[in-house]
Amino acid sequence: MPELPEVEVVRRGLKRYVAGRTIKAAEVLHPRAVRRHTTGPEDFVRVLAGAAVNDVRRRGKYLWLPLSTGSVLVGHLGMSGQLLLQPAGATDGPHLRVRLQFSDGGPQLRFVDQRTFGGLAVSPATGPEGLPAELAHIAPDPLSPELDEAAFATALRRRRTNVKRALLDQSLISGVGNIYADEALWRARLHYARPTETLTRPAAVRLLAALREVMTAALAAGGTSFDSLYVNVNGESGYFERGLEVYGRAGRPCRRCGAPIRRDPFMNRSSYICPRCQPRPRRAHW
Ligand SMILES: [Zn+2]
Repeated sequence: MPELPEVEVVRRGLKRYVAGRTIKAAEVLHPRAVRRHTTGPEDFVRVLAGAAVNDVRRRGKYLWLPLSTGSVLVGHLGMSGQLLLQPAGATDGPHLRVRLQFSDGGPQLRFVDQRTFGGLAVSPATGPEGLPAELAHIAPDPLSPELDEAAFATALRRRRTNVKRALLDQSLISGVGNIYADEALWRARLHYARPTETLTRPAAVRLLAALREVMTAALAAGGTSFDSLYVNVNGESGYFERGLEVYGRAGRPCRRCGAPIRRDPFMNRSSYICPRCQPRPRRAHW
């Protein structure tokens, strides 16, 4: 599942290739891809025709495109969604769900989604800078300038949960998924089960710094291609998996201390840790 750096890579590609262009026609090939557009696929097609794309923005893992009509095109990649720029003559793949043609006749924007957990919708722009209402509850992410370090540290330490569960909670901080949570915890030398109320303020600040570092590095590498489905708008994979320190490295030596990385079950998924650098918190902490 794409996380924040991967979605930011897609945003940058869309901004470069789509912003400033006018949509000539939209076509919905699978209604499930626009199920969050509650007035139906025909309305989705109608409201997009003739709209110019003013910009491409992101909040957490959602992309939103302010349109000249005053509405916003909102997109979420889900587990397997891809937003691809392809020439009009390119063959439609079996998982093509939505196609946008532009009035300049140039490359089309195609939403391809094998598992159809992602989707597109057009919403009224209601919030600050035209943010649609459905994204208003999503907290700032580690890469957004409005995320305040002191406020994050306070909010994190107030949670009554463990530190990894808190990182995955999109109302505390958005855009952090399993991969980058594990990577940041390793960098900050924290165990995933550490109760948040036992974190010192410096540890909370260190954890945020680690999140920012790992996401910035991942962004520079074009994201992590943990499966073949994540690609940028030109269909290219990122290569940050080489930069991962713990995720997917069970049994291999920790690059800091040499102890074998361990994979533990966590919330129906996995947590990868170095048992030496990230010792389980003492019982007194629970
Ligand atoms: Zn280690």
